[in-house]
Amino acid sequence: APGGRLYNFSAGPATLPIDVLEEVQRDLVDYKGSGMSVLEMSHRGKDYMAIAAKAEADLRTLVGIPDNYKVLFLQGGASTMMASNCHNLAGATDSADFVVTGAWSVKAQKEGAKMLANANICATSKDQKFTTIPDVSTWNLTEGSKFVHICSNETIGGVEFKEVPDVGGRTLVADMSSNYLSKPIDVSKYGVIYGGVQKNIGPAGLGICIVRDDLIGNVRPDTPSMFDYKLMADNDSMYNTPSCFTWYVSGLVFAKLIKDGGLEAMEQRNIEKANVLYNAIDSSGGYYVNPVDKKYRSLMNVPFTLAGGEELEKKFLAEAKEEGFEALKGHRSVGGARASIYNAMPKEGVEALVSFMKDFQARNA
Ligand code: PLP
Repeated sequence: APGGRLYNFSAGPATLPIDVLEEVQRDLVDYKGSGMSVLEMSHRGKDYMAIAAKAEADLRTLVGIPDNYKVLFLQGGASTMMASNCHNLAGATDSADFVVTGAWSVKAQKEGAKMLANANICATSKDQKFTTIPDVSTWNLTEGSKFVHICSNETIGGVEFKEVPDVGGRTLVADMSSNYLSKPIDVSKYGVIYGGVQKNIGPAGLGICIVRDDLIGNVRPDTPSMFDYKLMADNDSMYNTPSCFTWYVSGLVFAKLIKDGGLEAMEQRNIEKANVLYNAIDSSGGYYVNPVDKKYRSLMNVPFTLAGGEELEKKFLAEAKEEGFEALKGHRSVGGARASIYNAMPKEGVEALVSFMKDFQARNA
Protein backbone atom coordinates (compact mmCIF):
# COMPACT_ATOMS: atom_id res chain seq x y z
CA ALA A 1 0.00 0.00 0.00
CA PRO A 2 1.09 3.59 -0.47
CA GLY A 3 3.31 5.23 2.16
CA GLY A 4 4.90 1.95 3.20
CA ARG A 5 1.71 0.92 4.97
CA LEU A 6 0.17 -2.55 4.94
CA TYR A 7 -3.30 -3.31 3.70
CA ASN A 8 -4.77 -4.20 7.07
CA PHE A 9 -7.73 -6.59 6.94
CA SER A 10 -8.02 -6.94 10.71
CA ALA A 11 -11.50 -7.36 12.19
CA GLY A 12 -10.65 -4.84 14.87
CA PRO A 13 -8.93 -2.75 15.96
CA ALA A 14 -8.88 -2.01 12.28
CA THR A 15 -7.38 0.22 9.64
CA LEU A 16 -8.01 3.98 9.96
CA PRO A 17 -8.23 6.61 7.21
CA ILE A 18 -4.74 7.85 6.38
CA ASP A 19 -5.86 11.50 6.25
CA VAL A 20 -7.26 11.22 9.77
CA LEU A 21 -4.03 9.66 11.03
CA GLU A 22 -2.08 12.49 9.42
CA GLU A 23 -4.31 15.13 10.98
CA VAL A 24 -3.86 13.50 14.38
CA GLN A 25 -0.12 13.47 13.80
CA ARG A 26 -0.02 17.16 12.84
CA ASP A 27 -1.95 18.13 15.95
CA LEU A 28 -0.51 15.56 18.32
CA VAL A 29 1.96 17.64 20.28
CA ASP A 30 0.28 21.04 20.10
CA TYR A 31 -3.42 20.83 19.38
CA LYS A 32 -4.25 23.85 17.20
CA GLY A 33 -2.04 26.24 19.16
CA SER A 34 -3.46 25.27 22.55
CA GLY A 35 0.02 24.35 23.79
CA MET A 36 -1.18 20.88 24.72
CA SER A 37 -1.81 17.51 23.19
CA VAL A 38 -5.36 16.17 23.23
CA LEU A 39 -3.75 13.27 25.11
CA GLU A 40 -3.01 15.65 27.97
CA MET A 41 -6.18 17.71 28.17
CA SER A 42 -8.64 17.73 31.01
CA HIS A 43 -11.98 16.47 29.78
CA ARG A 44 -13.55 19.41 31.63
CA GLY A 45 -11.37 22.01 29.88
CA LYS A 46 -12.68 24.36 27.21
CA ASP A 47 -10.69 22.84 24.33
CA TYR A 48 -11.69 19.28 25.04
CA MET A 49 -15.35 20.15 25.72
CA ALA A 50 -15.47 21.71 22.26
CA ILE A 51 -13.93 18.60 20.68
CA ALA A 52 -16.45 16.35 22.43
CA ALA A 53 -19.45 18.50 21.55
CA LYS A 54 -18.44 18.78 17.90
CA ALA A 55 -18.03 15.01 17.66
CA GLU A 56 -21.56 14.47 18.93
CA ALA A 57 -23.01 17.19 16.71
CA ASP A 58 -21.26 15.75 13.65
CA LEU A 59 -22.42 12.22 14.45
CA ARG A 60 -25.99 13.50 14.78
CA THR A 61 -25.73 15.23 11.41
CA LEU A 62 -24.06 12.29 9.71
CA VAL A 63 -26.58 9.69 10.85
CA GLY A 64 -29.60 11.97 11.16
CA ILE A 65 -30.23 11.09 14.79
CA PRO A 66 -33.64 12.37 15.94
CA ASP A 67 -33.73 14.77 18.91
CA ASN A 68 -35.47 12.24 21.15
CA TYR A 69 -32.39 10.01 21.09
CA LYS A 70 -29.38 10.40 23.38
CA VAL A 71 -25.89 9.71 22.14
CA LEU A 72 -23.59 8.23 24.77
CA PHE A 73 -19.82 7.84 24.49
CA LEU A 74 -19.01 5.03 26.88
CA GLN A 75 -16.09 2.97 28.05
CA GLY A 76 -16.29 -0.79 28.25
CA GLY A 77 -17.11 -1.43 24.61
CA ALA A 78 -19.97 -3.39 23.16
CA SER A 79 -19.42 -6.23 25.63
CA THR A 80 -20.33 -3.97 28.56
CA MET A 81 -23.43 -2.70 26.78
CA MET A 82 -24.65 -6.26 26.34
CA ALA A 83 -25.08 -6.15 30.13
CA SER A 84 -26.04 -2.50 30.58
CA ASN A 85 -28.81 -2.76 27.96
CA CYS A 86 -30.50 -5.34 30.20
CA HIS A 87 -30.13 -3.17 33.30
CA ASN A 88 -31.66 -0.16 31.56
CA LEU A 89 -34.47 -1.83 29.67
CA ALA A 90 -35.61 -4.72 31.86
CA GLY A 91 -36.07 -5.84 35.44
CA ALA A 92 -34.80 -9.07 36.98
CA THR A 93 -38.18 -10.74 36.51
CA ASP A 94 -38.55 -9.68 32.87
CA SER A 95 -38.04 -11.39 29.52
CA ALA A 96 -36.22 -10.30 26.39
CA ASP A 97 -35.88 -11.96 22.99
CA PHE A 98 -32.56 -12.71 21.30
CA VAL A 99 -32.05 -13.52 17.63
CA VAL A 100 -28.97 -15.71 17.55
CA THR A 101 -27.09 -15.55 14.25
CA GLY A 102 -23.48 -16.02 15.28
CA ALA A 103 -20.80 -15.69 17.92
CA TRP A 104 -21.68 -12.16 19.03
CA SER A 105 -25.39 -12.66 19.41
CA VAL A 106 -24.59 -15.86 21.33
CA LYS A 107 -22.60 -13.70 23.74
CA ALA A 108 -25.36 -11.11 24.06
CA GLN A 109 -27.91 -13.82 24.86
CA LYS A 110 -25.62 -15.46 27.43
CA GLU A 111 -25.05 -12.10 29.09
CA GLY A 112 -28.80 -11.49 29.11
CA ALA A 113 -29.40 -14.88 30.72
CA LYS A 114 -27.43 -13.71 33.78
CA MET A 115 -29.68 -10.72 34.34
CA LEU A 116 -33.12 -11.62 33.06
CA ALA A 117 -35.70 -14.15 34.13
CA ASN A 118 -35.96 -15.25 30.50
CA ALA A 119 -33.39 -14.52 27.79
CA ASN A 120 -35.42 -16.23 25.11
CA ILE A 121 -33.68 -17.41 21.95
CA CYS A 122 -36.53 -16.44 19.65
CA ALA A 123 -34.74 -17.55 16.46
CA THR A 124 -31.38 -19.05 15.61
CA SER A 125 -29.41 -20.14 12.57
CA LYS A 126 -27.23 -22.47 14.63
CA ASP A 127 -28.36 -25.51 12.63
CA GLN A 128 -27.18 -23.74 9.46
CA LYS A 129 -23.81 -23.09 11.16
CA PHE A 130 -24.72 -19.41 11.38
CA THR A 131 -24.55 -18.87 7.62
CA THR A 132 -27.96 -17.21 7.33
CA ILE A 133 -30.59 -15.17 9.19
CA PRO A 134 -33.96 -16.72 10.06
CA ASP A 135 -36.83 -14.84 8.44
CA VAL A 136 -38.55 -12.48 10.85
CA SER A 137 -41.89 -14.19 10.22
CA THR A 138 -40.52 -17.28 12.03
CA TRP A 139 -39.30 -15.48 15.17
CA ASN A 140 -40.88 -16.79 18.31
CA LEU A 141 -41.25 -13.55 20.29
CA THR A 142 -42.24 -13.71 23.96
CA GLU A 143 -45.43 -12.05 25.12
CA GLY A 144 -44.50 -8.85 26.96
CA SER A 145 -40.76 -9.11 26.37
CA LYS A 146 -38.87 -5.88 27.06
CA PHE A 147 -36.74 -5.88 23.92
CA VAL A 148 -35.64 -7.86 20.88
CA HIS A 149 -31.88 -8.08 20.41
CA ILE A 150 -30.13 -8.56 17.09
CA CYS A 151 -26.52 -8.35 15.95
CA SER A 152 -26.81 -6.40 12.71
CA ASN A 153 -23.50 -7.78 11.41
CA GLU A 154 -21.82 -10.90 12.72
CA THR A 155 -18.11 -10.12 12.52
CA ILE A 156 -16.94 -13.73 12.65
CA GLY A 157 -19.55 -15.47 10.49
CA GLY A 158 -19.95 -12.60 8.02
CA VAL A 159 -23.75 -12.43 7.97
CA GLU A 160 -25.51 -9.08 7.90
CA PHE A 161 -29.10 -7.93 8.21
CA LYS A 162 -30.11 -6.17 4.99
CA GLU A 163 -33.31 -4.66 6.38
CA VAL A 164 -34.46 -3.54 9.77
CA PRO A 165 -36.70 -6.38 10.97
CA ASP A 166 -40.28 -5.42 11.80
CA VAL A 167 -40.76 -6.49 15.42
CA GLY A 168 -44.28 -5.19 15.70
CA GLY A 169 -43.71 -2.13 17.84
CA ARG A 170 -41.39 -3.85 20.29
CA THR A 171 -38.10 -2.27 21.32
CA LEU A 172 -35.39 -3.30 18.89
CA VAL A 173 -31.83 -3.36 20.24
CA ALA A 174 -29.00 -3.77 17.74
CA ASP A 175 -25.32 -4.47 18.16
CA MET A 176 -23.83 -2.55 15.22
CA SER A 177 -20.19 -2.88 16.30
CA SER A 178 -18.98 -4.17 12.96
CA ASN A 179 -21.20 -2.26 10.55
CA TYR A 180 -21.62 1.06 12.37
CA LEU A 181 -21.68 3.97 9.89
CA SER A 182 -21.10 1.66 6.92
CA LYS A 183 -24.52 2.54 5.46
CA PRO A 184 -27.49 4.75 6.35
CA ILE A 185 -29.25 3.94 9.65
CA ASP A 186 -32.94 4.60 10.26
CA VAL A 187 -32.48 5.33 13.95
CA SER A 188 -36.22 5.75 14.59
CA LYS A 189 -36.74 2.02 14.08
CA TYR A 190 -34.54 1.15 17.04
CA GLY A 191 -34.73 1.58 20.80
CA VAL A 192 -30.99 1.13 21.25
CA ILE A 193 -28.12 1.03 18.77
CA TYR A 194 -24.78 0.18 20.29
CA GLY A 195 -21.27 -0.87 19.35
CA GLY A 196 -17.57 -0.46 19.89
CA VAL A 197 -15.82 2.03 17.60
CA GLN A 198 -12.69 0.01 16.90
CA LYS A 199 -13.81 -1.36 13.53
CA ASN A 200 -15.49 1.22 11.35
CA ILE A 201 -14.85 4.37 13.33
CA GLY A 202 -11.80 4.93 15.49
CA PRO A 203 -9.17 3.48 17.78
CA ALA A 204 -10.22 1.01 20.50
CA GLY A 205 -11.52 2.18 23.87
CA LEU A 206 -14.95 3.64 23.19
CA GLY A 207 -18.47 2.40 22.71
CA ILE A 208 -21.26 4.50 21.25
CA CYS A 209 -24.83 4.00 22.39
CA ILE A 210 -27.75 5.72 20.66
CA VAL A 211 -30.79 5.31 22.88
CA ARG A 212 -34.37 6.61 22.71
CA ASP A 213 -34.93 8.87 25.68
CA ASP A 214 -38.14 7.27 26.97
CA LEU A 215 -36.20 4.05 27.55
CA ILE A 216 -33.81 5.50 30.11
CA GLY A 217 -34.27 6.53 33.72
CA ASN A 218 -35.78 3.26 34.94
CA VAL A 219 -32.72 1.21 35.83
CA ARG A 220 -33.12 -1.61 38.28
CA PRO A 221 -31.94 -0.76 41.79
CA ASP A 222 -28.81 -2.93 41.69
CA THR A 223 -27.46 -1.19 38.58
CA PRO A 224 -23.85 0.03 38.80
CA SER A 225 -23.72 3.78 38.19
CA MET A 226 -21.49 3.28 35.17
CA PHE A 227 -24.23 1.20 33.52
CA ASP A 228 -26.94 3.82 34.00
CA TYR A 229 -27.67 5.45 30.64
CA LYS A 230 -29.69 8.27 32.26
CA LEU A 231 -26.82 9.17 34.55
CA MET A 232 -24.44 9.10 31.58
CA ALA A 233 -26.80 11.21 29.46
CA ASP A 234 -27.32 13.77 32.23
CA ASN A 235 -23.55 14.13 32.49
CA ASP A 236 -22.84 14.32 28.73
CA SER A 237 -20.97 11.00 29.00
CA MET A 238 -18.59 12.63 31.48
CA TYR A 239 -19.85 11.15 34.73
CA ASN A 240 -16.31 9.85 35.01
CA THR A 241 -13.22 10.37 32.86
CA PRO A 242 -14.17 9.33 29.33
CA SER A 243 -11.99 7.80 26.62
CA CYS A 244 -10.88 11.27 25.57
CA PHE A 245 -8.47 10.46 22.79
CA THR A 246 -10.53 7.85 20.97
CA TRP A 247 -13.57 10.14 21.24
CA TYR A 248 -11.50 12.89 19.57
CA VAL A 249 -10.26 10.63 16.77
CA SER A 250 -13.78 9.27 16.24
CA GLY A 251 -14.92 12.88 15.87
CA LEU A 252 -12.40 13.43 13.08
CA VAL A 253 -13.80 10.36 11.34
CA PHE A 254 -17.39 11.69 11.62
CA ALA A 255 -16.29 14.98 10.03
CA LYS A 256 -14.49 13.11 7.27
CA LEU A 257 -17.53 10.95 6.51
CA ILE A 258 -19.70 14.07 6.21
CA LYS A 259 -17.13 15.63 3.87
CA ASP A 260 -16.93 12.42 1.80
CA GLY A 261 -20.66 12.44 1.06
CA GLY A 262 -22.23 10.84 4.11
CA LEU A 263 -23.49 7.34 4.72
CA GLU A 264 -25.18 6.86 1.32
CA ALA A 265 -21.85 7.46 -0.38
CA MET A 266 -20.15 5.17 2.11
CA GLU A 267 -22.63 2.40 1.39
CA GLN A 268 -22.05 2.72 -2.35
CA ARG A 269 -18.30 2.41 -1.85
CA ASN A 270 -18.74 -0.53 0.51
CA ILE A 271 -21.02 -2.35 -1.96
CA GLU A 272 -18.46 -1.85 -4.73
CA LYS A 273 -15.62 -3.14 -2.57
CA ALA A 274 -17.56 -6.16 -1.35
CA ASN A 275 -18.64 -7.01 -4.91
CA VAL A 276 -15.04 -7.08 -6.07
CA LEU A 277 -14.18 -9.64 -3.40
CA TYR A 278 -17.33 -11.79 -3.56
CA ASN A 279 -17.13 -11.90 -7.37
CA ALA A 280 -13.55 -13.09 -7.15
CA ILE A 281 -14.54 -15.84 -4.71
CA ASP A 282 -17.61 -16.91 -6.71
CA SER A 283 -15.75 -16.96 -10.02
CA SER A 284 -12.83 -19.02 -8.69
CA GLY A 285 -14.48 -22.27 -9.75
CA GLY A 286 -14.83 -23.39 -6.14
CA TYR A 287 -11.17 -22.74 -5.29
CA TYR A 288 -12.22 -20.13 -2.73
CA VAL A 289 -15.48 -20.64 -0.85
CA ASN A 290 -17.67 -18.25 1.12
CA PRO A 291 -20.37 -20.27 2.90
CA VAL A 292 -22.85 -17.46 3.60
CA ASP A 293 -26.38 -17.29 2.18
CA LYS A 294 -26.02 -14.73 -0.63
CA LYS A 295 -28.97 -12.73 0.67
CA TYR A 296 -27.14 -11.99 3.91
CA ARG A 297 -23.51 -11.69 2.92
CA SER A 298 -21.78 -9.03 4.97
CA LEU A 299 -20.36 -5.95 3.27
CA MET A 300 -17.82 -5.73 6.08
CA ASN A 301 -16.42 -9.15 6.95
CA VAL A 302 -15.81 -11.72 4.25
CA PRO A 303 -14.79 -15.14 5.58
CA PHE A 304 -13.55 -17.69 3.07
CA THR A 305 -11.87 -21.05 2.95
CA LEU A 306 -9.72 -22.74 0.34
CA ALA A 307 -11.31 -25.94 -0.95
CA GLY A 308 -7.78 -27.38 -1.20
CA GLY A 309 -7.66 -27.79 2.58
CA GLU A 310 -5.82 -26.56 5.63
CA GLU A 311 -2.25 -26.93 4.38
CA LEU A 312 -3.02 -24.86 1.32
CA GLU A 313 -4.76 -22.28 3.52
CA LYS A 314 -1.65 -22.00 5.67
CA LYS A 315 0.45 -21.41 2.58
CA PHE A 316 -2.04 -18.83 1.31
CA LEU A 317 -2.02 -16.93 4.60
CA ALA A 318 1.76 -17.01 4.90
CA GLU A 319 2.29 -15.73 1.37
CA ALA A 320 -0.41 -13.09 1.78
CA LYS A 321 1.33 -11.79 4.86
CA GLU A 322 4.63 -11.63 3.04
CA GLU A 323 2.98 -9.60 0.30
CA GLY A 324 1.74 -7.00 2.79
CA PHE A 325 -1.83 -8.20 3.38
CA GLU A 326 -2.19 -8.02 7.15
CA ALA A 327 -4.47 -10.05 9.44
CA LEU A 328 -6.25 -12.22 6.90
CA LYS A 329 -6.32 -15.24 9.18
CA GLY A 330 -9.87 -16.31 10.01
CA HIS A 331 -11.14 -16.10 13.58
CA ARG A 332 -9.66 -18.89 15.71
CA SER A 333 -13.14 -20.38 16.23
CA VAL A 334 -13.79 -20.95 12.50
CA GLY A 335 -10.37 -21.02 10.81
CA GLY A 336 -9.87 -20.25 7.13
CA ALA A 337 -9.37 -16.67 6.03
CA ARG A 338 -11.34 -13.50 6.65
CA ALA A 339 -11.00 -10.12 5.00
CA SER A 340 -12.52 -7.30 7.00
CA ILE A 341 -13.13 -4.45 4.59
CA TYR A 342 -14.50 -1.67 6.77
CA ASN A 343 -15.08 1.93 5.68
CA ALA A 344 -11.40 2.85 5.83
CA MET A 345 -10.21 0.00 3.60
CA PRO A 346 -9.60 1.58 0.19
CA LYS A 347 -10.95 -0.12 -2.92
CA GLU A 348 -7.36 -0.46 -4.13
CA GLY A 349 -6.67 -2.68 -1.10
CA VAL A 350 -9.47 -5.06 -2.05
CA GLU A 351 -8.36 -5.05 -5.70
CA ALA A 352 -4.79 -5.83 -4.67
CA LEU A 353 -6.02 -8.72 -2.52
CA VAL A 354 -8.14 -10.11 -5.36
CA SER A 355 -5.24 -9.97 -7.75
CA PHE A 356 -3.07 -11.80 -5.20
CA MET A 357 -5.81 -14.44 -4.80
CA LYS A 358 -5.98 -15.01 -8.57
CA ASP A 359 -2.25 -15.25 -8.82
CA PHE A 360 -2.06 -17.69 -5.91
CA GLN A 361 -4.72 -19.85 -7.49
CA ALA A 362 -2.88 -19.90 -10.84
CA ARG A 363 0.31 -20.99 -9.10
CA ASN A 364 -1.35 -23.56 -6.82
CA ALA A 365 -4.24 -24.96 -8.83
N1 PLP B 1 -20.15 -7.25 18.92
C1 PLP B 1 -19.59 -7.45 17.72
C2 PLP B 1 -20.46 -7.66 16.53
C3 PLP B 1 -18.20 -7.46 17.60
O1 PLP B 1 -17.63 -7.68 16.41
C4 PLP B 1 -17.39 -7.25 18.73
C5 PLP B 1 -15.94 -7.26 18.53
O2 PLP B 1 -15.08 -6.92 19.20
C6 PLP B 1 -18.03 -7.05 19.96
C7 PLP B 1 -19.40 -7.05 20.02
C8 PLP B 1 -17.26 -6.82 21.22
O3 PLP B 1 -16.91 -5.49 21.25
P1 PLP B 1 -16.00 -4.86 22.38
O4 PLP B 1 -14.64 -5.46 22.21
O5 PLP B 1 -16.06 -3.40 22.09
O6 PLP B 1 -16.58 -5.21 23.70
